[in-house]
Amino acid sequence: MAENPKIRTPIVCVMGHVDHGKTSLLDRIRGSSVVSSEAGAITQHIGATIVPIEAIRTMSGSMGKVPINIPGLLFIDTPGHHAFTTLRARGGALADMAILVVDINQGFQPQTIEALQILRNCKTPFVIAATKIDRIHGWRVNENESFISSFNKQNERVKGDVENKTYEIVGKLSELDFSADRFDRVADFQRNLAIVPLSAHTGEGIPDLLLIMIGLAQRYMSDELKLLVEGPGAGTVLEVKEERGLGTTLDVILYDGTLAVGDEIAVATQVDVVVTKVRSLLKPRPMQEILTEDRFERVKSVAAAAGIKVTAPNLEGVIAGSPFFVIRGNRDEVTEKIKREMTEIHVNLAEEGIVIKADTIGALEALCKELESKEIGVMRAEVGPVSRLDLVETETIKNPAFRVLLSFNTPLLPDAAEIIKDPLYTQVKVFEGKVIYQLIDQYVEWRDEQKR
Ligand code: GDP
Ligand code: MG
Repeated sequence: MAENPKIRTPIVCVMGHVDHGKTSLLDRIRGSSVVSSEAGAITQHIGATIVPIEAIRTMSGSMGKVPINIPGLLFIDTPGHHAFTTLRARGGALADMAILVVDINQGFQPQTIEALQILRNCKTPFVIAATKIDRIHGWRVNENESFISSFNKQNERVKGDVENKTYEIVGKLSELDFSADRFDRVADFQRNLAIVPLSAHTGEGIPDLLLIMIGLAQRYMSDELKLLVEGPGAGTVLEVKEERGLGTTLDVILYDGTLAVGDEIAVATQVDVVVTKVRSLLKPRPMQEILTEDRFERVKSVAAAAGIKVTAPNLEGVIAGSPFFVIRGNRDEVTEKIKREMTEIHVNLAEEGIVIKADTIGALEALCKELESKEIGVMRAEVGPVSRLDLVETETIKNPAFRVLLSFNTPLLPDAAEIIKDPLYTQVKVFEGKVIYQLIDQYVEWRDEQKR
């Protein structure tokens, strides 16, 4: 098969409950690919790591015959719990694929369940990494081996333990309507979710994980990957950070085109769109240079896909998750596009339903879609804190079961908080939460109680 140079690097988000091992997994992938491939093959980026296909080939050791035309994988270590929904590109999730990390000894946690629901609603292909197998009592380590090869060397008790813990995960997934199995028992990866038991500390199972990710990318998303647009850079703001001596900086994931020093760029703030000029582009220094004074290396330009730190004037107030575009040509067109992406939700609003507010457009969509799947209509959906006006407008809803406002991960402004305390002032029922399904459960429970 001919290699297709126009295919872009798939973006893989690593998600999961805090402390289940996201960062360790990426560290391990980065570490072993540095060791196993020619020096310099691996590139460390801001907020991301690119693992080129040659490095994956070496690590997994068994792809010799598989025709592969993707250049590698760009892994994003999502900085916060809601990063997946915050990080958007082309009106949808930034990630092409995902790895959902679950500690095999702890099993599912609220954030694991929420991540699953979001991945389902976004139709993002993903695998489950069941991490920390080395913590299973009696596990004998076989550094960097494939899971099956190491598993076969364990004693019967340990094997039984792994099977039971894996089946617990399969069972939890089945409760959520996902059909899943250990990856080596999956015949159709489009129908069944693959669970890869692994350890970030010993590297066992990581070759299997990488192979499956490549397989998913090759089979189920090659069309999307061909949609490479060359030209002015397009990206998403991963984080907004104050850096000593640099001021406010943006950590950006560039998913299309190129970005250079001196380019005019546009990004969103809470209230507006800022247009500014790139002062510098910074890459992290390679591991071995960590002791040098300057933590960053300056570059003149970068091409997608890449993670890069951008310094420029007037970045104060830029929000994480904002779209990021290089302006070549019509400035108004670009700023309008950003405003649309920040406010336009891609969901159907109902004629009759509740009101929802969330901190970001992606979160709002995720909440909306989950409500839709539960057949709860949404009449109004907006980004931002809950104001008194929101309550006044919700108050006009006739059906008391819908006279409700769900506030997801966004604060109540003081005047709004004041009036919900007093039933004489408002009949609106407000629910607040930071995990989507828990917020919905609260509402449903209340609604069903009202019926009795
Ligand atoms: P994150 O919050 O999901 O990024 O989790 P971290 O990667 O920071 O890991 C949380 C803790 O679990 C750290 O103390 C890690 O050393 C530990 N940990 C992560 N992966 C493994 C693993 O595969 N085996 C063992 N034994 N410990 C792990
Ligand atoms: Mg982490």
